[in-house]
Amino acid sequence: MSIKVTSVSKLYNQQKALNEVSFSADKGEIIGFLGPNGAGKSTMMKILTGFIKPSSGAVFVDEIDVIQNPLEAQQTIGYLPEHNPLYKDMYVREYLQFQGSIFKVDKSQIENCIEKVGLTIEAHKKINQLSKGYQQRVGLAAAILHNPSVLILDEPTTGLDPNQLVEIRELIKELGKDKTVLFSTHIMQEVEAVCDRVIIIKKGEVLVDKKLTELKENNQQIIEVTFDYKIEEQFINRLPNVVSYKNNYDNTWYITFESDEDMRSTVFDFSQENGLKILGLNTHNKNLETLFREVTTS
Ligand code: ADP
Repeated sequence: MSIKVTSVSKLYNQQKALNEVSFSADKGEIIGFLGPNGAGKSTMMKILTGFIKPSSGAVFVDEIDVIQNPLEAQQTIGYLPEHNPLYKDMYVREYLQFQGSIFKVDKSQIENCIEKVGLTIEAHKKINQLSKGYQQRVGLAAAILHNPSVLILDEPTTGLDPNQLVEIRELIKELGKDKTVLFSTHIMQEVEAVCDRVIIIKKGEVLVDKKLTELKENNQQIIEVTFDYKIEEQFINRLPNVVSYKNNYDNTWYITFESDEDMRSTVFDFSQENGLKILGLNTHNKNLETLFREVTTS
C-alpha cells in the first residue's frame, strides 16, 4: 500500500475541514482527488506530505508514519503545492540545483528530471520568462528530483490554457507510469482524462471512492440531442430503450437509455426517418454525470 489514510479529521479552531477521512492507494495508481473549493483537498494534501498535522487519525506513505516521521516520509513524497511557489528570479537549472541540494541530489539526476518534464531547451531561462505551463513543469521537475515513489499534486492544472492543460495532463500520466499519483482538481473531465480512480471529497467527507473502470461499467447512457425545432414529449417516447428524458432548453433533450449499444446512431436514424434535423449530439456516461453533479451542486 502506497498511501493509507485512516479516520483523519482536521479542525481549524472550531471549523472541521476534514471529518473521519479514510482511503488508500496502491502502488502505481493515479487518483483524482475531486471536490469543490473548500472541500478539504489542500488540507488533506498538506497532512499527507507532513506539512501540517491532523487533529486525529493516522497517515502512512510507503509504510512510513507521516505524523511521527514527517522528514523520513518526505524522502518518498514529491509535492507540488497549490499555486506552485517558485523563486521566479532564478534560472530554471539554478532553481532545480538549489532544490536538489536539499535532498543531496546529484547533477545527472537533475538533468534527467529536466529532460523528463520537457524543459531541456528552457533550462537556461529565468523562471519568470516562462509561460504558466512551463512554470508548472519546473514545479513538477522539483517534485520528482529525489525520485519519490508518491507524487502529491495540488491543483496542478489550474490557470493553464487549453494547450498547456493537455500537455500537463499527459506529463502527469507519464510520471504516473512508475509512481503513485494523487492530484486534486475540481474538474470531472480531468479525472476522466488522466486517472485510474476518483475520490470525491465534499465538506471534509469522502462521498465516492471508485475505480474509473467501475464507473464506466454501466449500460445507462445519456444522449444530449438538439433538434432544429421544438418537438413533443410523445415523440421522444417512441425511441427504443428510453429510461427517462428531460427537456433542457427549447430544442435540447437529455435522454437516458439503457442499452449496451451506442444509441447515438438510433437517435440519428430515428430523426432522419421523421424528417428532423440534428444540430448537436453528445453522449455522456450516466455514472460520471451523476458524479459531476455531486461535485458541482452544493
Ligand atoms: P480545498 O483545497 O478543497 O479548496 P481547503 O483544504 O483549502 O479546501 O479548505 C477546507 C476548509 O478549511 C475551508 O473551509 C477553508 O476555509 C478552511 N481552511 C483551510 N486552511 C485554513 C487555515 N489555515 N485556517 C483556517 N481555516 C482554513
